[in-house]
Amino acid sequence: MKEISNKVKEIASRLLSKGQVDVFLAWEKGNQDYLTRPLAARTAEEAERIVFDEYSIHNLSNYLLKFRDSQEKIGLVVKGCDSRGVIRLLEDNQFSRDRLYIVGVSCPGMKDPLKAIKRNSGLLQNIAEDDKADKCSNCAYPNPLIYDELLGSQQEPNMSGERQAKIQEIENMSPDDRYEFFRDTFESCIRCYACRQACVACNCRVCIFDEMRPQWVGRENNETDNLMYHLVRAYHMAGRCVECGECERVCPVDIPLMLINTKLAQDANEFFGPYQAGINFVEGAKPALSVYRLDDPDEGFM
Ligand code: SF4
Ligand code: SF4
Ligand code: SF4
Repeated sequence: MKEISNKVKEIASRLLSKGQVDVFLAWEKGNQDYLTRPLAARTAEEAERIVFDEYSIHNLSNYLLKFRDSQEKIGLVVKGCDSRGVIRLLEDNQFSRDRLYIVGVSCPGMKDPLKAIKRNSGLLQNIAEDDKADKCSNCAYPNPLIYDELLGSQQEPNMSGERQAKIQEIENMSPDDRYEFFRDTFESCIRCYACRQACVACNCRVCIFDEMRPQWVGRENNETDNLMYHLVRAYHMAGRCVECGECERVCPVDIPLMLINTKLAQDANEFFGPYQAGINFVEGAKPALSVYRLDDPDEGFM
């Protein structure tokens, strides 16, 4: 990874020096081995701090949203999952392609700094030594799907099948058992909204969960409000989630959000497909569930 790290640094430095981008999004080292954090470099000097290592896990496409109202040109590094996030933003008209310079890196899999933090906290016992990120055991697209320059050697998908097996298990439950499963699962949600903040597909300027007049969804930690939050979130992710796994990774109480996201992606593919969100950017094309017709033959919306 050292070689890739140096190449990214070189590219960022070149783009910033020549004025081809105003800012370059990558990662820098924090104050622990396992703390690698996002960096927005604005000068070639700042680009010297760039690293790409085994903890460069954050989906940088989400950080693009901070720049959507400017006219600045942005360079950024994307792994496979991040690249699907970039396509999501382009399809959502949050950016035009010509504002972005994308450096793709074929991704061998990442470690999760949150696992390392828990392991080093001294507060928990029986924490595995291996910090491998769970999302990387369910990765269909480790190689970037959109880029201007590509680094690293092609990687194979890594699908453990565990998530799929769990989805099947839930599908086989009776409706009552399934309700109980979700009620129990969401009981521990503290409504911190970290899953929303980490999500590139959650890019509405005003979020329904923040609205007060009217207050569409209650804010208490109770069965009804928690289930409502997750139901609305699921509706909003259907056909839009790019399966980057960041929501589940950042959840402080380990709610298995990817079970729902993956099921939604499968249903979008089955009912409106063949379709997978964020794998193929075609300028002007409309992804599934983003258009409607008044004479839609299906019932439901009118
Ligand atoms: S999900 Fe895939 S592309 Fe994303 S960090 Fe893990 S292995 Fe890399
Ligand atoms: S990150 Fe976890 S605890 Fe926080 S709102 Fe999302 S599901 Fe709930
Ligand atoms: S819902 Fe989760 S997996 Fe899907 S795009 Fe958002 S953060 Fe990524």
